[in-house]
Amino acid sequence: MSDIEAVTGVVNLSEGDPGLVDEIKELGGEELLECIQCAKCAAACPMVLAGFSFFNKRVIHAILLGLRDPLLDDSSIWACQSCNRCTEVCPREVNPFEIIQAMRRVAIREFALPTLSIEGLKSLYDTGHAVYLAGAGNTRAKVGLPEKPYSTVANPKALKELQAIIRQTALADLGIIPMDESDVTDTCEV
Ligand code: SF4
Ligand code: SF4
Repeated sequence: MSDIEAVTGVVNLSEGDPGLVDEIKELGGEELLECIQCAKCAAACPMVLAGFSFFNKRVIHAILLGLRDPLLDDSSIWACQSCNRCTEVCPREVNPFEIIQAMRRVAIREFALPTLSIEGLKSLYDTGHAVYLAGAGNTRAKVGLPEKPYSTVANPKALKELQAIIRQTALADLGIIPMDESDVTDTCEV
């Protein structure tokens, strides 16, 4: 039986990690135990429509069962769109979005990140955008837009400030992405 089948089918609770609940509470999912599995959050979640194995309600359920490895082996938690619909509809103020973010923090501690997420973090550091189309200048010009948006990517001072902040976060300790200040001058000409 695969890990996903373990979640959707029979679960051996003796293999669960009882420490996962406390870890999630410590990392921002304080209201985890308030969840009554009513599924209102799932009804509002685009991850369900996209067919991901785990989505808000199921992530919470898996955490409560201590299913650390199935969650880390699956990329679903990285598909959350941060739309916060789940937070709006939850009758128990669980804030499922924050629980998914907490699970991401657990994953980062264990270097269980998909490649795309690492690329997104590098882009965030280099430009201030998790997704930035560096070659879109001509296309933007055709529709009357400046080559670069009015954001950190066109403002070296703001980008330097952002990078200084990022270098003070846990991301710097992890060493997942290069954090060279010289990147600022390479990527940002106004
Ligand atoms: S997080 Fe809230 S909306 Fe989602 S299942 Fe739990 S109680 Fe229901
Ligand atoms: S914030 Fe994430 S988990 Fe919540 S509804 Fe949006 S995509 Fe789903």
